[in-house]
Amino acid sequence: MPPVTLPPAPTIPGARHLHSGKVRDLYELTEGPHAGQLLMVASDRISIFDFVLDTTIPDKGELLTRMSLWWFDQLSAIVPHHVLSTDVPDAVRGRAVVCERLDMYAVECVVRGYLTGSGLLDYRATAPDHSVCGIRLPDGLEDGSRLPEPVFTPATKAELGDHDENVSYEAVEQTVGAERAAELRGLTLSVYARAEEMARERGIILADTKLEFGARPDGATVLGDEVLTPDSSRFWPAAEWHPGRAQPSYDKQIVRNWALSPESGWDRSSGEAPPPLPPEVVERTRQRYVEAYELLTGQRF
Ligand code: ATP
Ligand code: MG
Repeated sequence: MPPVTLPPAPTIPGARHLHSGKVRDLYELTEGPHAGQLLMVASDRISIFDFVLDTTIPDKGELLTRMSLWWFDQLSAIVPHHVLSTDVPDAVRGRAVVCERLDMYAVECVVRGYLTGSGLLDYRATAPDHSVCGIRLPDGLEDGSRLPEPVFTPATKAELGDHDENVSYEAVEQTVGAERAAELRGLTLSVYARAEEMARERGIILADTKLEFGARPDGATVLGDEVLTPDSSRFWPAAEWHPGRAQPSYDKQIVRNWALSPESGWDRSSGEAPPPLPPEVVERTRQRYVEAYELLTGQRF
């Protein structure tokens, strides 16, 4: 696995740093009306192939934060969410939210309506049965194929720098109990159904997404983390969808393509991080995130 090195998390007055992921920094608020709750800050960092790049994408943290907030709001009839406030310290205004501290379930709730990525790898590796997370799928599917119906394909959370690992539904039952597992699967599929429908109306295919849920002290299940951003989901332009190849997508595909091209001079097998991104790759990537935000929410950035 590539070693992940992160820049030091910024110091924020009134908050104590707890944890940094590849893209986000998590703090505990130490003063104010929400003392004891969490401050989740989305940076402009970008990661590909589990490497965090040295180059950042301007406004990415704000775009993803806004997109996530918009979706939380759209989904609130299906499941409560963890956001308490967007009134955050000036240093991180626009790209941070105050959220309830939840006891997170140790399962990445992934749902797929289309086959690609690790789902496709599992599908191929389990030939001739063709299954993903123990769910049997039809023969003859290709990269980007639409599944007969969306499937819940949970994964375990990996440490920084590691890949998440797909697991069976039974493994989720063992981790969180049968009742919780059924609840998580039901909520995940309901969120997908709603979001997929909304995206489709806007000419975007929601191929798959990953949700994280947690429990309030009273046991109620709440949607946490970020939701339906290009960092946690695959969004494809519907007009360009052609199963049988990798699909164009509204995310860091421009960066991935550049890194793998001869132009970058990067050797993926070297174990070294990709080189800094050229300015035009940064700008095109930023534009892609803006486009996704504007298309989905109907709002100008
Ligand atoms: P990466 O996503 O880079 O693989 P990561 O998941 O460790 O790594 P982040 O996603 O940046 O890093 O960190 C967010 C962390 O906060 C995750 O561990 C997530 O489960 C947790 N989290 C999200 N929402 C809440 C919440 N409301 N209460 C407690 N923890 C939360
Ligand atoms: Mg995460």
